[in-house]
Amino acid sequence: MAANRLSLKLAKLQQEVIACRLCPRLVAHREAVASAKRRAYLRCEYWGRPVPSFGDPAARLLIVGLAPGAHGANRTGRMFTGDSSGDFLYKALFDNGFASQPNSTGRSDGLHLIDAYITAPVRCAPPGNKPTREEFAACRPFLERELDLLANVKVVVTLGRLALDAYLGVPLDRKLIQRRSGYPFSHGAHFRLPSGLPTLLCCYHPSRQNTQTGVLTMQMLQSVFGDARRMLG
Ligand code: SF4
Repeated sequence: MAANRLSLKLAKLQQEVIACRLCPRLVAHREAVASAKRRAYLRCEYWGRPVPSFGDPAARLLIVGLAPGAHGANRTGRMFTGDSSGDFLYKALFDNGFASQPNSTGRSDGLHLIDAYITAPVRCAPPGNKPTREEFAACRPFLERELDLLANVKVVVTLGRLALDAYLGVPLDRKLIQRRSGYPFSHGAHFRLPSGLPTLLCCYHPSRQNTQTGVLTMQMLQSVFGDARRMLG
């Protein structure tokens, strides 16, 4: 697909995402958080809507997160922007040549991704960072359509077990892979998928809980994106 047409189709898809109100629990939560605000952000205008994907439509690297943070992406309107998980992720992306700068504070901070694209299986901030099974299912058509459009992707990094499950659910249902159990989650695992699918790398999610407890260190995150860089050249 020509680059301009692809960009337009992805942009149209993101407009549909932003307008979506399919999940009553998530709509109520994202808007309540945006209205109440955290004390540190009382002067900010929260986004409070579904968060669109972000990146280069011709990307060879796809990063699959989980869902927007209540006071991060749900505040700023851009994935992994405005909270500690983004600080961690974008530093590793920058150091490996996938981002134009190591920090991500707001939609107008000048950041752009290089040969990389970030998506999530759930686009609205969930209570307790835990979407329900029904919410994953409701949001999945957006992910499916995006995967179909992102035809250049060669490497997929999934951030956490739930992201891995969500990503693999698409080829599993299309019978492009046989069993989910053939791809168990462990940090740093690589999988060569059949049927011409991209290579899959597993990584812990850079949530505050993981990074503050040492479950995921910067070195571990750098190692995963270093692997992605070597695979892509
Ligand atoms: Fe719509 Fe997805 Fe948000 Fe549910 S999680 S309201 S399907 S954008």
